[in-house]
Amino acid sequence: MEQVDAVVIGAGVVGLAVARALARVGREVMVLEQAEAIGTGTSSRNSEVIHAGIYYPAGSLKARLCVQGKAQLYAYCAERGIGHQRCGKLIVATTPSQRAALPAIVEKARANGVDDLRLIDAAEAQALEPALRCLGAVLSPSTGIVDSHALMLGLLGDVENAGGLLACHSGVKRLAVATGGIEVETVDGTRLQARTVINAAGHGACALAAGMAGLDARHVPQPWLAKGSYFTLAGRVPFARLIYPAPEPDKHLTGLGVHLTLDLGGQAKFGPDVQWVQAQDDLQVDPARGEAFYAEVRRYWPALPEGALQPGYAGLRPKISGPNEPAADFRIDGPAVHGVPGLVNLFGIESPGLTSCLAIGDAVVAALGSGM
Ligand SMILES: Cc1cc2nc3c(=O)[nH]c(=O)nc-3n(C[C@H](O)[C@H](O)[C@H](O)COP(=O)(O)OP(=O)(O)OC[C@H]3O[C@@H](n4cnc5c(N)ncnc54)[C@H](O)[C@@H]3O)c2cc1C
Repeated sequence: MEQVDAVVIGAGVVGLAVARALARVGREVMVLEQAEAIGTGTSSRNSEVIHAGIYYPAGSLKARLCVQGKAQLYAYCAERGIGHQRCGKLIVATTPSQRAALPAIVEKARANGVDDLRLIDAAEAQALEPALRCLGAVLSPSTGIVDSHALMLGLLGDVENAGGLLACHSGVKRLAVATGGIEVETVDGTRLQARTVINAAGHGACALAAGMAGLDARHVPQPWLAKGSYFTLAGRVPFARLIYPAPEPDKHLTGLGVHLTLDLGGQAKFGPDVQWVQAQDDLQVDPARGEAFYAEVRRYWPALPEGALQPGYAGLRPKISGPNEPAADFRIDGPAVHGVPGLVNLFGIESPGLTSCLAIGDAVVAALGSGM
């Protein structure tokens, strides 16, 4: 059996960022990806927003890694010439109860170390975005957008420049704890023994860990899928910033609301909504969901023209908390959690996973400890 140093399973943005972090501390890294290319999973089905780190519970991994990852990501994109824009976002209140809740958003962000949010009145919000209708807003200047594909290519380039390898069409079918390492078997029957294995398989992570010989099943959460559909705007959008409705009290059930995001080409999309589904290939956008989008968007953009929304694409949130449960935190389960030397399982890496990817890479290196 071939001996390898470190195997990363999954070439999404998180797997690639982890591989880069390992390569930077001198590890020889092999990335195993089941698909024909990098970034065909959730990493290519998201909003491409660099989140500020506002809503997550203080002290959570999501809060810490988002704020840290945001700074790292802006620096990395600037250094590597990766397309991005610090366009800012407005969190807009369209009802008196949402308006009353805006100061709490500023406070929550401050607890996470995000201290640049500013409460603004309706007149200032409309001066910034004349097409907007609201009763008040919070301005988040550090929110931005990124070209996620260019980012993944940049990360892969760093891995390969450091001597790391990417193997596509290399789905991992079985893991087993063995003496002196972890056995990795791919679907074509190749068997490797690795000193370190990082399970960054996204939607496949829980199943892979559940089938791992030698890992106690208590350490594997139940996976859930929450589909998010997007509708794209035909025509020009009259906004320069991202527009998010202020969250409702049951936010964990509805996501961040039907918000407006822009891509670097200036195209606008609305979404994602939330729909709990069973199948990992449930990625079609149901045009019938568009009706609810019109109603939601017109709360803050009354002039949205009839017929302007087209079904776009959908992504599946890799959740480890189900409907009616509060959103779970990221899990970066290293040997201190499950007792298997050299193994790190990444579970529940939903939003803000893209923003946090570089910080997650560093956290994985830390979770491996000095014995890696
Ligand atoms: C609708 C939606 C919107 C989002 N918006 C944002 C946002 O605006 N900002 C933000 O910060 N985050 C956002 N996110 C979250 C972000 O997209 C994810 O956190 C991130 O893409 C996860 O990356 P990943 O590498 O863990 O997973 P993935 O991109 O899913 O990669 C996992 C990879 O593992 C491979 N794989 C699976 N099983 C195996 C196996 N057995 N063997 C080998 N390979 C395997 C898959 O083929 C895939 O390539 C959003 C997510 C969704 C769903």
